Amino acid sequence: MPLPFPLKRRGLLFVLSSPSGAGKSTIARLLLGSDDGIALSVSATTRPMRPGEEHGKDYFFVTDAEFDRMVEAGEFLEWAHVFGRRYGTLRSEVMRTIEGGQDVLLDIDWQGTQQLKQVDPDIVRVFILPPSMDELERRLRSRGTDSEDVIQSRMTRAAAEISHWAEYDYVLINNDVEKCRELVHNILKAERLKATRRIGLHDFVRGLIG
Ligand code: 5GP
Repeated sequence: MPLPFPLKRRGLLFVLSSPSGAGKSTIARLLLGSDDGIALSVSATTRPMRPGEEHGKDYFFVTDAEFDRMVEAGEFLEWAHVFGRRYGTLRSEVMRTIEGGQDVLLDIDWQGTQQLKQVDPDIVRVFILPPSMDELERRLRSRGTDSEDVIQSRMTRAAAEISHWAEYDYVLINNDVEKCRELVHNILKAERLKATRRIGLHDFVRGLIG
């Protein structure tokens, strides 16, 4: 039965963080594929493009000078140094998605998450842990793309990222990618139903009980 008036809610900023190798990108991709009410915020970065990546799809790949200009112009909701490069969330990306009626998925690190929480205290923060550091190292090695030095620096950085786990609203252990995707999706679905986020609920209930 159609409702007598639209029951709307504010768009959600849904943050996923984890050390690299914990499966976050796979989970993000699966989530986006299973829910068309959420879209990825494509960040800008100064790091070089990797094989298979696309400008505008994976990242907006920009020069250092361009990144400086964007910082200066206030184009970022947050930005941070990661692995010696800069990464930032574009205000325009987030606004476009929210205005289009979708929630926004942000794949950003703990520094970005802290900044975003200041901008919008209503964000939902999810942290994904690997089942063990050995398993994380195994996953990093199985990519076969990084030198020993890079793997060791990723492991050091992973421990630093993990140390911020308690700053998140939800913490999951990625033992099984599909189970983890399902849990992330359950969190998203429950957060969408939160009473404080829903516009029109008061009127709807008044209609029910007078
Ligand atoms: P990668 O270079 O492997 O794609 O990403 C490296 C790290 O940068 C990941 O942990 C990712 O979450 C983080 N990252 C990607 N985009 C952003 C962003 O816009 N802001 C922040 N703070 N971190 C980001």
